[in-house]
Amino acid sequence: MSEVRVRIAPSPSGNLHIGTARTALFNYLFAKKNNGKFILRIEDTDAERTSQAYVDNIFDSLKALGLNWDEGPDVGGEYGPYTQSERFDIYPKYVQELLDKGFAYECFCTPEELEAEKEEATKNKQAYVYSKKCENLTEEEKAKLRAEGRKPAIRFNIAKAQKAFHDSSILEFDDLVKGKLHVDTNLIGDFVIMKSNGAPTYNYAVVIDDALMHITHVIRGEDHISNTYKQILIFEALGFEVPRFGHLGMILAPDRSKLSKRHGATAVSDFVEQGYLTEALLNFVALLGWAPSDGQEIKTVEEIAKDFRIGEISSSNSIFEYDKLKWMNSHYIKQIPIEQLKEMLKKYLTDYDLTTLSDAQYTRMVEITREPLTLLSDITNAVPYFFGGDNVEIEPEVQTGTIETELSQEVLRAFVEQGESWEWTEENLHEKLEKFRADFKEKGYKPKFTMWAIRGAVTGRLCGADMTAILAILGKEHSLNRAKKCIITANV
Ligand code: GLU
Repeated sequence: MSEVRVRIAPSPSGNLHIGTARTALFNYLFAKKNNGKFILRIEDTDAERTSQAYVDNIFDSLKALGLNWDEGPDVGGEYGPYTQSERFDIYPKYVQELLDKGFAYECFCTPEELEAEKEEATKNKQAYVYSKKCENLTEEEKAKLRAEGRKPAIRFNIAKAQKAFHDSSILEFDDLVKGKLHVDTNLIGDFVIMKSNGAPTYNYAVVIDDALMHITHVIRGEDHISNTYKQILIFEALGFEVPRFGHLGMILAPDRSKLSKRHGATAVSDFVEQGYLTEALLNFVALLGWAPSDGQEIKTVEEIAKDFRIGEISSSNSIFEYDKLKWMNSHYIKQIPIEQLKEMLKKYLTDYDLTTLSDAQYTRMVEITREPLTLLSDITNAVPYFFGGDNVEIEPEVQTGTIETELSQEVLRAFVEQGESWEWTEENLHEKLEKFRADFKEKGYKPKFTMWAIRGAVTGRLCGADMTAILAILGKEHSLNRAKKCIITANV
């Protein structure tokens, strides 16, 4: 068997979509599984809808995900993507071949004429199929139309190709994921393969590229099934080997509509910006349509690659459960080595003056706050009380419900008084606070309330990281000054 060659072929009309990342991953896994090659091709034939910023985003996002491609033009010592707009000189030759073989024809219809055809079909409640008005124009008629200044587009002749390679109008193929699929080609209109301005269309360029790049398996979303029939006929008409096709079910939002921005992030770069880890994103999208044989869902790409079989992909749609992704993300955050995590979190801590913390203090802060993080960005709201010196913002309900109670006031007075003489290390504070709580317990105070008074005054909140460690990081002066500020002195 020839070498397996697959590709991901995004159109740069937006940032890399999480669904495209899944398609890329499945192609990548299939290539790895078969010692094959994974190729990136930017499909930018539609100049109006594409932008270089999107190309860059796709490139960077795939790299960030680690879905590196195996070949491509040299760009500064690494593989660039193949880009259709840089290959425009390749496409006309095969259009000519299709024209010469009678599988394509020039179409002079104006947009207005085509619009009128469509309106007519709508009026008659029929699905629109091009009328083939230009199929049999004579050379004289064409010359006349040209003289009028009309420039022809080129259309592919579906019926001619179908007839040449198949016994009936039914076109069937064996999908790697969905099994046998077929269509009655009478329902497919002769579509444009080259626009009047010479630009190739998607359905045409994709075939030329897949053929010339020796793509053996085309794995993509099921929204392309209707395109696949058109593409198979072009492959056949040009005498190219037809690749195997596999169509993946769609990814739907939890409300079963198309996944869109109103449900949350959809672009890989947005997920990353919000603090999702690429490991979690890959693991999560792998499970959209595929299930590991051992039922163990947390898996690295290497582990998935060992277990992955294209034939086992579910043909149905998958639901994008943001909550599950969050759960996975929190799992992966827990695995990050501390030094790496310290670096990764900095981007979410720009509101704070990190220079007020020594490296040891910053390390400890990250150690004690990482546990509940679901997104890396959660760190922003988890740490304000480590900064601000003697000042901390106190939540209003903590002020009235906790700090201002008589019990808390007594605790705070004792804390300030005794704390002055404490050696302010985490170890010692641990011991001292234990004793402090026990003393208050003897007076009938619940240990929980004792600690709430201190936590409320020092952090402004009732929940948060380990209190002893917080006090140690803040230092004696700031901790006690915050407590002092909360002590209500009688107004005389
Ligand atoms: N360029 C197409 C798209 O972004 C994908 C083409 C393909 O995979 O054949 O939807």
